[in-house]
Amino acid sequence: MKHAFIGIGSNLDSPITQVRGAIEDIKSHNKIKLLKSSSLYKSKPVGPQDQDDFINAVVKIATTLSPLQLLGELQKIEYLHHRKRLKKWGPRSLDLDILMFENTVMRTKKLTLPHPEISRRDFVIVPLLEITHKNLVITKNKKLRDYL
Ligand code: ATP
Ligand code: CA
Ligand code: CA
Repeated sequence: MKHAFIGIGSNLDSPITQVRGAIEDIKSHNKIKLLKSSSLYKSKPVGPQDQDDFINAVVKIATTLSPLQLLGELQKIEYLHHRKRLKKWGPRSLDLDILMFENTVMRTKKLTLPHPEISRRDFVIVPLLEITHKNLVITKNKKLRDYL
């Protein structure tokens, strides 16, 4: 089993229910084990400001899936929550990002690991800190504490 962290966000169609529902979907997936989940946090949107606040959370999982398989399963869950791809950084009913997958480093169009925006997003850093610690290794020479 490999460990990974997933960032969850929603600002459409009852965001709290969406985020709680997504955590339940992750928990009940037969190839994903939910290890920890953060509290729910409220944040201002990234990009266009003419949209509602977001509800965010981070979960820690263990899985037998590969990173790309995990991305595929998370996209199925987004689809179940009626995620429509409208505009970049626009409102969405559910967004599931892989923040980190073990110590995997990859940079392809389909999947970049660790997620490149972690250092710039309080709504990722704060929940991550709640379920981990300052010494969490993000990349070879960066720890979570370096982003605080
Ligand atoms: P951001 O990645 O800046 O948070 P976003 O979540 O709004 O933006 P999406 O429209 O949800 O972006 O995703 C666009 C594509 O990003 C996905 O189809 C996926 O292939 C790709 N992607 C690359 N790296 C990741 C990752 N670590 N987790 C999830 N998707 C990723
Ligand atoms: Ca995102
Ligand atoms: Ca995404």
